[in-house]
Amino acid sequence: MDKWATGIFTSIDEGLGAGLDSVKELGVSTVHLHAPGRDFRTAEKTAEIKGQFAAAEIEISVVFAGFPDDDYTTPEIAQQTVGLVPLDRREHRLEETLAIADFAAALGVDAVGMHLGFVPETSDPDFAAVVEVARTVCDHCRGHGQHFHLETGQETATELLTFIQAVDRENLAVNFDPANMILYQVGSPLEALDQVGRFVRSVHCKDAAIERRPDQPWYEDAPLGQGDVNIRAFLLKLRDLGYEGPLTIEREYAPDQVGDLRAALQLLTDLRREILG
Ligand code: MG
Repeated sequence: MDKWATGIFTSIDEGLGAGLDSVKELGVSTVHLHAPGRDFRTAEKTAEIKGQFAAAEIEISVVFAGFPDDDYTTPEIAQQTVGLVPLDRREHRLEETLAIADFAAALGVDAVGMHLGFVPETSDPDFAAVVEVARTVCDHCRGHGQHFHLETGQETATELLTFIQAVDRENLAVNFDPANMILYQVGSPLEALDQVGRFVRSVHCKDAAIERRPDQPWYEDAPLGQGDVNIRAFLLKLRDLGYEGPLTIEREYAPDQVGDLRAALQLLTDLRREILG
């Protein structure tokens, strides 16, 4: 895989991200795959999916776990419904996450990512239990030779760092999504990258505007380069960190998703040439 290969967050069922046809049309060589539902993860379907990506010569670098009842309507509702933190769904979802790691292993993918949820503060009585849950996922992933990547955004970089240190597992890593830092209002993305940079093993190239239109949903992202992340500065920092992995574009709420993805690929190609030479 080339240094900073450009990729796309993709999905093969109704999940987030661009479909495989769009990805093929855009000609990228690497993707993050949103894990499909259980029906798509049978041995037969998994082999089929593996074959489709191999035939298209597209590498899956990270499989992302998500759940059909994650609800992002408001940040408060997200806090109650997303990831492995909500107590009423923790046990079932932990099982599901381990099954998704197995699915990723069957695809030959060595990284599993997810929004773990809003990690409680260290003073919260549930903190230790959430640490245990993360350890369980890490240890299961380690059995497959996988890293477990925490998606950024639902806590500040300082809180994330504290959590990573508490979990204390060598295969725990960060998927850095700069736009999420803006959307969840948890600090400057570039300053956050300075703090957690040494744990970053994958990234989402996603942008977001700080200033929201009156009717704009809080979670709506922006075309890459048109928000407030400062993608050029983001890439310069990644270079300084020695990050060589894929630059995976995530564009979620777009009327013209393929058009935006194409423009984002061009932007990254230009910046890559400028920065890496
Ligand atoms: Mg993301």
